[in-house]
Amino acid sequence: MRVLAVGAHPDDIEFLCAGTLAKYTQRGDEVFNVVCTNGDMGHMIIPPAELAEIRTQEAANAAQAVGAEFKMLGEPDEWLFHDKRTRLMVIDAIRWANPDVIITHSPDDYHPDHRVCSEMVFAASFLSTVPHIETEHSAQDHVAALVYMDTVAAANFIPEVYVDITETLAQKRQALLCHESQVKWLMDHDNMDVVEFVEAVARARGLQCGVQHAEGFQIPKLWPRLKTERILP
Ligand SMILES: [Zn+2]
Repeated sequence: MRVLAVGAHPDDIEFLCAGTLAKYTQRGDEVFNVVCTNGDMGHMIIPPAELAEIRTQEAANAAQAVGAEFKMLGEPDEWLFHDKRTRLMVIDAIRWANPDVIITHSPDDYHPDHRVCSEMVFAASFLSTVPHIETEHSAQDHVAALVYMDTVAAANFIPEVYVDITETLAQKRQALLCHESQVKWLMDHDNMDVVEFVEAVARARGLQCGVQHAEGFQIPKLWPRLKTERILP
C-alpha cells in the first residue's frame, strides 16, 4: 500500500497520526509526508526565514523517524489559502506520492490552515486523476481512499475507526521530539507539554477502544473514495 499524510504545519502529522504511519511502514507499506506551510510563524525569537529552514529540517527528520518520504510545499504559516495555484500544488504532491490512501486534517479542526488543508486535499484527491489537469507528475489512475485524522486535543471529533498504536507510541514520541524548536515554544506560548499532550490523547483514544494507546480517524462517506477493505493498519 502507498500512504500519503498531508499536514498544514510541520508538526501536525506527528501530533495526529505518526503512530499509525509507523505501523504502516513497519508492515512494509510506503509512506509519504507532505507539509503545506513552512512553520515560519511558530516562534517568538527565531526570525521567520531562519525558522522556516529549521522547521522544514525538523519535519524531514520526523518523517525519517517513522520511515516516511518527505515533501515541503513551503506556503507561509498562518496564510494557507485554497486557490488555483495551491490546489495545483497539492494535486502534484498527491501525484508524486501516488497513494492508495490519503490521511489529512478534519474539516472541523481548530486552525484555519488545518481547515484549508483539509478542503484542498479533498478537492485535489479527486482532481489528481484528471489527465488534462497538467502538473509535473502524471495523473493518478485511481482515486485514493480519504481518511481524516483526529483534531488537536481530540476536540469536537468522534472517531469511527481506531488504530492501536501501543507498539508504535515510542516511535510517535521520537518523531514528535524531532520538532525541537516547538517543544519550548509550545510550552511558553500555549503552556503545552507536547509529549504529555499527545500521550494523553492517545491514552484517551485507547480507553475508548480497549487498548493502551490509539489514534482515531473518520472516513468521509463519499463516492468514489469508499473502499471495501480496511484501509488503516
Ligand atoms: Zn497545525
